[in-house]
Amino acid sequence: MTEFPLEPDAASIREMGMRAIDFVADQVEKWPRTPVWRPGAANPLLAPPPELPGELDKLLSMVGDAADRGLNTASAGYLAYFPAGGLISAAIGEMIAMSLNRFTGFAALAPELVAIEHSVIAWLCGLFGLPEGAGGLITTGGSLATLAAVVAARERGGGPDSVLYVGEYAHHCIAKAARLCGLPDDRIRIVPSTAELRMDTGRAAEMIAADRARGLRPFLLAAAAGSTSTGLIDPLDELGELAEREGLWFHVDGAYGAPFQLTERGRALLTGIERADSIVLDPHKSMFLPYGTGVVLVRSESALRAAHSGDGSYLHDIERCAGLPDYADIGPELSREWRGLRLWLPLHLHGIGAFRRALTEKLELAEFAHRELMRIPRLEVPWAPDLTVVGFRHRDGAAASRQLLERINGAGRYFLSSTEVAGAYTVRMCPLSVRTHAEQMAEVIRDIAAAV
Ligand SMILES: *Cc1c(COP(=O)(O)O)cnc(C)c1O
Repeated sequence: MTEFPLEPDAASIREMGMRAIDFVADQVEKWPRTPVWRPGAANPLLAPPPELPGELDKLLSMVGDAADRGLNTASAGYLAYFPAGGLISAAIGEMIAMSLNRFTGFAALAPELVAIEHSVIAWLCGLFGLPEGAGGLITTGGSLATLAAVVAARERGGGPDSVLYVGEYAHHCIAKAARLCGLPDDRIRIVPSTAELRMDTGRAAEMIAADRARGLRPFLLAAAAGSTSTGLIDPLDELGELAEREGLWFHVDGAYGAPFQLTERGRALLTGIERADSIVLDPHKSMFLPYGTGVVLVRSESALRAAHSGDGSYLHDIERCAGLPDYADIGPELSREWRGLRLWLPLHLHGIGAFRRALTEKLELAEFAHRELMRIPRLEVPWAPDLTVVGFRHRDGAAASRQLLERINGAGRYFLSSTEVAGAYTVRMCPLSVRTHAEQMAEVIRDIAAAV
């Protein structure tokens, strides 16, 4: 048995790393043959850590057994919510970043590493057409990115009478961020949708006017660039214009949809996103990264700074670094890992073209699924997908739809989820994993047709 000390030498590092990499390769290799969902059971991992050293292989095998239970969100058959898959190149980047373990809260302490991270933010700002002075932050996910944006908006234009506007199909993290900022629940307005399930700009304008007449202070309008339930994109250009006319902060929640800007179809659908004061995107959704990676971009980096900068006498030795942001000053964290490498490495290693092609493929898979589901007479398909979220219902009603979902998920090959759209139970399918291809889509459609 090999013991690994707290401070291993180079040979031990290599050995530990090889065994861990073997474990990962074995896991990924077996996923096509293992069920996407397997019920969990109480397991020995609940035992407390021992006083004496354990054995790496035994511990890895316990982790492997535990990973066999529950939902394999990295599997090609996972089509629920927003599948990510998780690029192995990003995981390797993360291993390297964690091993180097540099402090990136202040640029002066690791200028070149912060520049690597910042190059990704600068590239994203350019991708969405944000002007000079734009900036942003890599967070642990969309919810935290949204919190940073809402805090910045409130700092700029909020007050005790502030009112925020979201769409009927907006993600709950916007209301949650507002609540965390101290905004009372009755200051959050839900703008109804048009018949096409997108935010109704006319109604938003009416609600803003009504609130002003009441002496309240509208401060933020949040549009969905790919809503979680439907994947549909709100009329960003119209809403952006309304926000500008009314002097509101325009937030675009592109946690799921914004990365489709890399595709021709996505770029056309996302017209108007360049008007945003803040954009949230989740690389752990539509850029295939492992969970724990969100991004907030802002039109003006100084808005994030005004809301987040802090000071302490123990920090006075640290200098500023011209041209690079101090992440501790533009986000809620002080100590933070070097989060940039898990994005930078895959982007540079595979090239943007690989992401563009993979996203285009997912759009085609959704189009295929939509077309095929329309051909099943007993299904109702309530919308044509903008991006990759496909919804359908059994014509016999909610109970039959629920049964259909349970039958597909129960078989263990594919995993779908459900939502409510226009008051009706709707089964929801989203081909977005980097591992999901035409073969899986054809099979799941066959399974659905058979189950109907
Ligand atoms: C997933 C999602 C969020 C929340 O992001 P997390 O990374 O899960 O915190 C916000 N908005 C939309 C549209 C989403 O799909």
